[in-house]
This record gives sequence, C-alpha cells and structure tokens, in this order.
Amino acid sequence: MRTEVVIIGAGPAGLLLAHLLHRAGVAAIVLETRSQEYVAARIRAGILESSSVALLESVGLGARLRAEGHEHRGIYLQWPGQRHHLDFVDLTGRSVWVYGQTEVQKDLVAAGTAEVIYEVTGVRLHDLDGERPSVTFTDRDGAPRRVDAAAVAGCDGSFGPSRQAVPAARTFERTYPYSWLGILADVAPSTDELIYAWHPEGFALHSMRSPSVSRLYLQVPNDTDVRAWSDDRIWDALSRRLGHGQDGWTLTPGPITDRSVLPMRSHVHTPMRHGRLFLAGDAAHIVPPTGAKGLNLAIADVTLLARALTALLHEKNPAPADAYSDDALRRVWRCTHFSWWMTTMLHTSGDPFDAELQLSQLRWVASSRAGAAGLAENYAGLPIGL
Ligand SMILES: Cc1cc2nc3c(=O)[nH]c(=O)nc-3n(C[C@H](O)[C@H](O)[C@H](O)COP(=O)(O)OP(=O)(O)OC[C@H]3O[C@@H](n4cnc5c(N)ncnc54)[C@H](O)[C@@H]3O)c2cc1C
Repeated sequence: MRTEVVIIGAGPAGLLLAHLLHRAGVAAIVLETRSQEYVAARIRAGILESSSVALLESVGLGARLRAEGHEHRGIYLQWPGQRHHLDFVDLTGRSVWVYGQTEVQKDLVAAGTAEVIYEVTGVRLHDLDGERPSVTFTDRDGAPRRVDAAAVAGCDGSFGPSRQAVPAARTFERTYPYSWLGILADVAPSTDELIYAWHPEGFALHSMRSPSVSRLYLQVPNDTDVRAWSDDRIWDALSRRLGHGQDGWTLTPGPITDRSVLPMRSHVHTPMRHGRLFLAGDAAHIVPPTGAKGLNLAIADVTLLARALTALLHEKNPAPADAYSDDALRRVWRCTHFSWWMTTMLHTSGDPFDAELQLSQLRWVASSRAGAAGLAENYAGLPIGL
C-alpha cells in the first residue's frame, strides 16, 4: 500500500489529523490496534477549551457539539466552608464546553474522512531518516502488510511504538503520590458547573457528561484496589469532600455504571520529531487530568501538524515541519505547568505546611482578579499556535 501520511493510532489525535489532512487534500491511512467499537467506547476526557471548540467548528465537526454539548462559563473552586465561582467569560472572554471525548470520537468516525485499518498487530516503523519511510504490521487476518509513505504521524498514545522510534530523545517526568478513583453515575449532576474541591481527606471533583450522567473523582493513594471502594463508601467520601450540606447544597447519589483508578503523571518526550516521524498527543506528552488538558493538547498538536505536513508534502515548504516540535512544545510546557499547578494546589499530601500553602493559594486565586484570571486564561485555553 502507498499513501502520503501513515498515522499510527485512531484516538482523537490520529482521527482528527486524518480529517484535517483529508480537507487539505493529503492522503492518509490510519493503523489502530484496537477494534472500532473499543476505541469508540473508551471513557476519558470531557472538557473542550475554547480553541478546541473553534477548531472543531471550523472543520465541520461542531454541529452536534453545539446541539448536545454544554457551554460552561467557569468552574467552582472550594475548600471546607467556602465555594467560589470563577467566571472565565468575565475574566478572559472565553468559555469551555462539556462534550465527552467519546462524542468527539463518534463525530470523527461519522465524518467518514479517515481510512482506518483496525485490529492491527506488530506495528513497526522503518526508514524514518529518509524521505520514504514505511510502516509494517500484521492485519486482523494474520497477513503481513506494509504501507509506504512520505511521513509517519505517531498518534499512538503513551504505550505505542512511535515514541520509542525517536533516538536520543529526552524525557521529563513527574509521578504524583496519588491517583484518581473516577466514577460515572446515572444521576443528574448536582451542580451546573464543575466543582474542584480541596479537602483535608483529599481532592474531589464533580464533573458531568450530560444532564443525566455525572462524572466524579476522588483522590486516592496509588495502587488503590477499586474493589475496596463500595458504592456507599464512594458516595460518603464524595459527600464529605464536596461539602454536602454546606450552605444548603446537596449531592445526589445514583447508580454507578463505571469505576476505575487513574494514576497521575506528567511526562514530556522531546523532540516531537525525528526525520519523517512526527509525534502528537499522548505519544509525546501526558498530563494529570486536573487541568483538563490531555485531549485539548492532542487537538492543538494535530492542528499544527496538519498544516506542517500539508506545507511539506504539497507546497515543498519544510519550514512549518522544521518548526513543529518547538512550536508544539511551547504549548505542551504551558499546559504541563498548568496541570502540575492545579494538581499540586488541590491534592493533599498529609503535610500540614503544604496544606496551609495550598489554602493560602486557593484564597488568593478566589479573591484576586489577577489570580483568578491566570487560572481562567489557562483553563479556558490559549489560542492554538501561541
Ligand atoms: C483512563 C484515562 C482517563 C482520562 N481522563 C481524562 C480527563 O478526564 N480529562 C482529560 O483532559 N484527559 C483525560 N485523559 C487524557 C486524554 O484522554 C488523552 O490525552 C487523549 O486521549 C489523547 O489522545 P491521543 O489520540 O493522543 O491518544 P489515545 O486516545 O491514547 O489514542 C492512541 C491510540 O493509539 C492506539 N495504539 C496504541 N498502540 C498502537 C500501535 N502499536 N499501533 C496502532 N495503534 C496503537 C491506541 O489503541 C489508541 O486508540 C485520560 C486518559 C486516560 C488513559
């Protein structure tokens, strides 16, 4: 097989890149290890920043988002006895949208612009230093296959082979001493916008997926066994940490339909390019989910990458491809810092000195327009390309 760009991974980064390239007239084939159903059902991110929404709308992927997504003006920040609303629209002129990654994925599949080969195994990258790289794999029927291309896009997440194909890479990493226990519940959210709660027992987050589905998280120790958390234990901890009863607010529990433990990690893999291989999304970087940046960073990366590959392959202009890694990493580091900052401000360590610093910082963010605007600007998202 021959194409212009072979994309490894059909997550949001890979499928959106294929969509953007298709619109630019650049041919691409996507290789994915999992089945289409598995990829479509994976429950992950749920918040789109303003530049992600603008990008999706500008490429014909905004109709369902506008109809079924929910625009939020901001978030609530709280600690025991206090709840403050940060109004991003008032502070920065930008909002965020609640629209699940599964929905973005469905819209990309429905667009029908990506040629995807699902359930491949043994993916290997070759000749990345030259102008004719290739990727070999075994298809679902067990037949060995090969795609020749002019460029390879590594959109295969943190465990794929693309990251390993960058020689002399430098990685930066931080593992946090806590994880998130996340649940999906068939119950209307008890809040109109997300609540980020600091509590001496640990952080809690009340998020949502739709008017009838809530998504909630609890800070738990690393290596927590999800079976040790009964439904009652989860709802009791959420009630305490989210302030059930505080100023008359109540948390309504409901049937839990999904639960999992998510480790918290920051990871940046540099450079994001080697020869004709370009990394995008989780293949190049992981952020803890506290800043809601993982999906948004993937969208920002592939927006830059689609422009760079179009210029390289159709306009014989290598400059955007040469600048891709540095350009993408500027935003990656901004989001890495923001995600680290939100994480370390809100998760308790058990150290009383740390707790007082965290509370002091929360009081400052909630009471100073400059402090609130800094959080709002980063959370609602900077324009792509900055
Ligand atoms: C459990 C979980 C919960 C998350 N929750 C949040 C959240 O609440 N908020 C937030 O902002 N972010 C969250 N994230 C992060 C966010 O989902 C990711 O940043 C986002 O999915 C990145 O998209 P991607 O396309 O780069 O990577 P992925 O979505 O990981 O897609 C990579 C794709 O490559 C495929 N692949 C892997 N290896 C190969 C191979 N060898 N060959 C071919 N294909 C391969 C994978 O099957 C996958 O489909 C979460 C992530 C996880 C794992």
